Amino acid sequence: MRKAKIGLEVHIQLTKLKTKLFCSCPSDYRDKPPNTVVCPVCLGLPGALPKLNEEAVKMALTLCLSLNGKVSRKVVFARKHYFYPDLPKGYQITQFTSLGSSPVCQGGQLVMRVDGREKVVRIRRLQLEEDPGRIVWPRGKASEYVLVDYNRSGIALIELVTEPDMETPEEARAFVEKLRSLVEHLGICDCELEGAMRVDANVSVEGGERVEIKNIGSIKDVEKALKFEITRQSTLLDQGGRVERETRHWDAERRVTVGARSKELEEEYRYMPEPNIPPYLIEEGLLEQAKRELPELPDQRIKRMIKEYSLSEYLASVLVIRDKRLADLFEEAAKLYTNYKRLASLLVVDYLRWVEELGLPLGKCVKPEWLAELLSYVDRGKITLEQARETVLPSMLRECKEPSRVIEEKGLGVVRDVDKILSIVRKVLRENPKAVEDAKKNPKAINFLVGQVMKALRGKADPRTVRQMIESELGMSARHGSDG
Ligand SMILES: [Zn+2]
Repeated sequence: MRKAKIGLEVHIQLTKLKTKLFCSCPSDYRDKPPNTVVCPVCLGLPGALPKLNEEAVKMALTLCLSLNGKVSRKVVFARKHYFYPDLPKGYQITQFTSLGSSPVCQGGQLVMRVDGREKVVRIRRLQLEEDPGRIVWPRGKASEYVLVDYNRSGIALIELVTEPDMETPEEARAFVEKLRSLVEHLGICDCELEGAMRVDANVSVEGGERVEIKNIGSIKDVEKALKFEITRQSTLLDQGGRVERETRHWDAERRVTVGARSKELEEEYRYMPEPNIPPYLIEEGLLEQAKRELPELPDQRIKRMIKEYSLSEYLASVLVIRDKRLADLFEEAAKLYTNYKRLASLLVVDYLRWVEELGLPLGKCVKPEWLAELLSYVDRGKITLEQARETVLPSMLRECKEPSRVIEEKGLGVVRDVDKILSIVRKVLRENPKAVEDAKKNPKAINFLVGQVMKALRGKADPRTVRQMIESELGMSARHGSDG
């Protein structure tokens, strides 16, 4: 595959705002009947005047500061014209870097780790703009007409544009993950909400033109869409073809990018200053206050967690970057359970795996006290770690039940009656003379016997104890590290 250059445009809805960007309609438009969270301003009715939501500016300010960007002291808006049914005014109120208008933030950088390396991605700019409405195809792409829902129209959006500093789809994914963690720690966006974070990617490979991929709706799809596109462009060039400058759409279902209308040139948008919103001045005092009030950011939190809980950098980073709620869950549970390493790896290794496998949203049916309870059963020898990870945890998540109930209902628990285990060990040894001979020659062959005993005990014993018993019955000395 050829070397690639990737730049991203990320749209982040300020979901934590109470109202839209230029009117007093509530921001919470999801699951509302179509066209009920609207007013003359966000419907673009003639004569309706927009009024800037100052809280939105403050939120954009905190993101700018945490990216080490340069805050514009005069926030000016511009009109970007295009004709599409989701945009009732015929223009979108946004920001622009000319005509005396400037975006709320310029420059800055985001530092992330990819495969253990540090990677710096420069930020070009960050601007405030309004979200358009939503087009609904009542019968999929075959629809003869479309419906328009203006509930989303006027929702405050931050558009963040990076320099083309990323070289692989993995780096692009890591960028979006880190950015998501950042805005969640700043408390400006709950990115889990559908459509709250949307990505457009610009990608070119050596010897080809730049292609823009629009409409990428999830972090995982950022990586998939870019992989597809880099392969497509490389193959085209390798076969002697050309990569044209164009806009493509990501089709998440078919997992391909498809060609779309040719890209508008900047001048076709006929940018002009927005005359209905006076410039908003950011005073020194406001800027200082925003700096003072910045909450703990992901990098600081990772450092603190490494120190406070003696976690590895890997565990702390996954907890914080993968999803803020994961780190919150860990820290709440850590108040109740102090084997922090075991707790962190239960979350990072097992919990994330089950969430993925069961297709559950993160945070569903899991409580800090349940995690603490689950692991203390393991510590007290009531159940094995294996049972906790493979049986209790998934049932807990699937059925929303506390660990004690799962253990009771499934009849789990460790058989601690040594005589009972020993009698089963002896029975298995009697019934498997060939395996016993093998085991005497090759210690690895003991695994089979351990498995037979565990099966007879329905998994309710500690495999290490079983192994030691078998070894002692066979007259072998207990081996260190044989439980691996
Ligand atoms: Zn409104």
